[in-house]
Amino acid sequence: MAVTKTVEPDKINFAVECGIKLLGENRVQEYLSKKDSYDKSAQVQFIGHLQTNKVKYIINDVSMIQSVDSIRLAGEIDRLAKKNNRVMDILLEVNIGDELSKSGVSANELFALAEQACELENVRIKGLMAIPPIGSDEAVFAHMKELFEALKAKKLPNTDISVLSMGMSGDYELAVKHGSNLVRIGTRLFGARDYSKSK
Ligand SMILES: *Cc1c(COP(=O)(O)O)cnc(C)c1O
Repeated sequence: MAVTKTVEPDKINFAVECGIKLLGENRVQEYLSKKDSYDKSAQVQFIGHLQTNKVKYIINDVSMIQSVDSIRLAGEIDRLAKKNNRVMDILLEVNIGDELSKSGVSANELFALAEQACELENVRIKGLMAIPPIGSDEAVFAHMKELFEALKAKKLPNTDISVLSMGMSGDYELAVKHGSNLVRIGTRLFGARDYSKSK
């Protein structure tokens, strides 16, 4: 996945022309201001912290929401997906480093959330997402892989546990070594971000 925060649409479309098929957006406002200019041949997934009152802005545009960390958010996605006559794929975001500053459900609470969210008819849990703390040792990545396998083994109804979204520019090699099958790369594709230009 190419992560497109702060990147201008021209650059993003060039990446799509070069073969990128999946874009990751993490800010609703910025996405709304840019989406009409995007080459529609790539899918867009939402990867940032999402407030429940903003789900309505993206429900018809993204193919997956990777950052679901509460039953309240899952419920709102379900409600709006139903209203729009679709099923939304989601990942459950795990706060694998137990960082106070990060979103995500704790590893302890993950299975309870999965058991509740799988009851929702218009969301489908496809796997897990995590942002390991910078400089994490391999045990952190291995722990995510364990949680992913454990969730798969539960065979919860209405789920298809097949995506482990883990790894960014600085840690994608470790992430892949520990089972990631979706890396989210920003800086290494587009260069350093210029936040002064972002909305
Ligand atoms: C920004 C961001 C990335 C990409 O980060 P880079 O270090 O630039 O590759 C990946 N995932 C999430 C959730 C992000 O917000």
